[in-house]
Amino acid sequence: MKRDLFGLTLSELQALCAEQGFPKFAAKQLCDWMYKKGVTTFDEMTNLSLAMRGWLNGHCLLGRTFPVQTQTSVDGTKKYLFDCHNEADVNNRGEHHFVESVFIPSGERATLCISCQKGCKMGCRFCVTGQQGFHGHLSASQILNQIFSVPESETLTNVVFMGMGEPLDNYDAVYSALEVLTAPWGLAWSPHRITVSTVGITPVLARLLEESDCHIAISLHNAYPTERADIMPMEKAYPVAATLAMLKRYNWYGQRRISMEYILFKGLNDDLTHAAELVRILQGLHCRVNLIRFHASPGTPFRAPSDETIATFQEYLKRHDINCTLRASRGEDIMAACGLLAGTQAPPA
Ligand code: SF4
Repeated sequence: MKRDLFGLTLSELQALCAEQGFPKFAAKQLCDWMYKKGVTTFDEMTNLSLAMRGWLNGHCLLGRTFPVQTQTSVDGTKKYLFDCHNEADVNNRGEHHFVESVFIPSGERATLCISCQKGCKMGCRFCVTGQQGFHGHLSASQILNQIFSVPESETLTNVVFMGMGEPLDNYDAVYSALEVLTAPWGLAWSPHRITVSTVGITPVLARLLEESDCHIAISLHNAYPTERADIMPMEKAYPVAATLAMLKRYNWYGQRRISMEYILFKGLNDDLTHAAELVRILQGLHCRVNLIRFHASPGTPFRAPSDETIATFQEYLKRHDINCTLRASRGEDIMAACGLLAGTQAPPA
C-alpha cells in the first residue's frame, strides 16, 4: 500500500528521507511543493532528483482529492462534499463516507469550516452529525485536503474546526494539520486565524492549550449541568465546570481568544434564569459568548426561540458585562448551518 505524504510534518518527512537515503533538504523541498505551491503530483516537483521522483511515484501518494459536489446558498455560502473513502481504514467495509466543508464569505473574511471525523461519537441530540454515529477519523491529509482543495483555497482568511466531528477526539491528526497550517515550512498562518471547537474534552484541551496558540470555542449550550447532559451526553464524562475551571487558570495565556458557543433552543435554555447562570459560571473568564439561533433540523424535537426572546437574552448578557454576539445564520437553505452537516449527497436537481 502506498504511503500518503500529504499532511506529514517536516520532521516526519525528514525521517522518511533518512530512511530511504535521500538528502535531508529534500524534506523541505517536499514541504514547499505540497504546502506552499500546492502541487498534486510528484512529477511537478522538478527540483527533486529523477531517482527520488521515481521512488515517490512507486511507493507514495499525495492524498489530494477535489470536492465531489458543491451546493451554493442564496447567501453565498458554499457547501463542499468530499469523498473520504480510505482503503487503509480497517473499519471500512467498502463503504464510502463523505464529509462536508462550508465556505462562508463575509466582507473581508473568507472562512472555511472543516470536518475532522466521519460522523461523531459525541451524540449531541440537536446535531445531525451526532445522530449519524461515528464512522472513523479523518487523517491529517484528509483534514488539510479540505483547505487545499476548495476553489477558494488561496483566498481563505480563517479556518474553523466546527464541521463534522469532535476535533479533540482526533487530536493527533488535528494537531498535525495545525502544524502544517502554522509552521514556517507549511502555510505559515498565524494561529489566530484558526479556531478549534470542542465540547470540552478537558485533558486533551489542556494539551492543545500548551501546544498551540489557536483560538478555542467551547460548545456550552446550557449552564446547568443536568440540562446540558440531556442534550450533550459528554457532559457526564467531561463536565463543563471542570473545563471552565481549567480555562480560568490559562486565562493569561497569549493573545488567544476563548469563546463560548451557545445555541438557543426554545423553552430549554433561553430564559433569564439560564442567562443568569451563564453569567455566573463565566465569572473570572475573559471570553466571548457567541449566541446561535437553533436551526430546525430533521429528526430533532427542538425549535428556535423568537427574535424577541433572543434579543432579551443577549441584552441580559451585555448588561452583565459579557462580550456577546449573535451569529448570523448562514447556509441554512443548503443544510450548511451550524449542526446541520450530514455528509450526504444532495438529491439530483
Ligand atoms: Fe459532534 Fe459537534 Fe455534532 Fe456534538 S455538535 S455531535 S461534537 S459534531
